[in-house]
Formats: sequence, structure tokens, C-alpha cells
Amino acid sequence: MSGNYKNTVQIARKTLIPKERRVQVTEGELSKYLHVTRRGVGPIHTPYGYFWQYDFHIDDKWGKYSVLVRAQVDKEYNPIFLNNELLLRIDSGCETGQLFHDNTCECREQLHEALKKINEHGEGMIIHVPSQDGRGGGLAFKLATLLLEKDLGLNTVEAARILANNEEIDLRTYGGVVGILKFFRAKRNILLMTNNPHKISTLKENRYKILRTSILIPPTRFTKKHLRAKKIELGHLLP
Ligand SMILES: [Zn+2]
Repeated sequence: MSGNYKNTVQIARKTLIPKERRVQVTEGELSKYLHVTRRGVGPIHTPYGYFWQYDFHIDDKWGKYSVLVRAQVDKEYNPIFLNNELLLRIDSGCETGQLFHDNTCECREQLHEALKKINEHGEGMIIHVPSQDGRGGGLAFKLATLLLEKDLGLNTVEAARILANNEEIDLRTYGGVVGILKFFRAKRNILLMTNNPHKISTLKENRYKILRTSILIPPTRFTKKHLRAKKIELGHLLP
């Protein structure tokens, strides 16, 4: 067995040892500590080139975070960001769209667009939060909204409001995203790929400087109603 083989196996084994950092995060003017744990890392080859995928756990409401990074890495596979600003996408999980190709939303296309933009830019990060399906309401809630959309012809926001009894329909929080950025000691200047102005405030509260860039997917006959509801009812910055 060559020394190189042994060395590589040893390094791969080492990535399986969880690395934990306790980071301070501000969320809605409340300051708290999160335990951010890197559980693993490996390269994935996407249609937009190689990315490092990290498996993270955070002791917040959302638990699992999958982080894709395009950057150089150090000996412990932590990214070394060379640009002055970090191109970032915060991607809420959408099992129906991203995994099963449901064509009534554009989540899958947005994820692909983000990968493509990072590939063109040369450096960047996608923080994917699987349990934020249905704007944080969960997969069961989201499936029920699809039921109302199909059977009553409602849009996504109308359906969610009915099921949430007119309470808040977007339950997502982004403190964990700050936790990941701090874990990686990412740059303070962020170029955020989003149409959702609400994703920006938690980052700003934590003293990140945010520039926004849109992530626009042309409407289809299936997503037209969905996109209109996002723009009109949720204030998304869409044409
Ligand atoms: Zn979706």
C-alpha cells in the first residue's frame, strides 16, 4: 500500500470526526449561542462543476444544514474565500420541487441558477435548509397547501393563510445561516442571491454588509400564479 493511499484514507477518516464551534448570533434583537457542528465534507460533481458539500448540524429549530461551497480549502477542508465578497444563496428545502420535479414552483430552477452563478463567479456558497420546506411550516403543511391549490384554484399564499388560520405563514429564521457563516469565518461583505427582502434582515443584524442580486426564473404556465402571489402578497422583488 502506498503512503499516498494511507494518507488519503486517514484524511477521509478525519473528516468524519465532528467539529463543533459555539457561535454568538443575534436574531430579532435577541442574542444567543448556537452549537454549529460540521459532521462531514466531500466533493460533488454537479452540472456546474465541482462543489464541496458539507453536512452540518445546528442546535436550532431546523437541525440539518447542507452547505455547498466553491472555494479553495485548507488542510482540514475549511474553505478559504479569496474574494472580498461572498456570493451566497440561502436555499430553503423544497422536496416536491427540487427532488421530485413538481412544476408548480420554481425552487429547483432557482437552486440550479444559484449553482450556475457561483460557477461563473468562481467562488460562493449555498446554504440549503431541508427542514424549511413550506416556508418553515414543514412538508405536511406544504403538501396541504398544494391540495388547496389544485382543488380550489388558490395561490400558494392564499392556501397557506387558510391553513395557518391567518397567522404568520413564513416561519423561517436565519440565525443558523449566520452560524454557518461564522463557523467558516466568512467575509462580512455578502452578495446575496435572493428576491426575498426578509432574508436580508437577520444578516444585517449580525453586521454583515448585504448587496442583493436577483435570481429570476422566467414564469411558466405552471408557475405564473405562484410567482405573482410571491410578488404581490409577499413583497418579493420580481419583475
Ligand atoms: Zn418549491
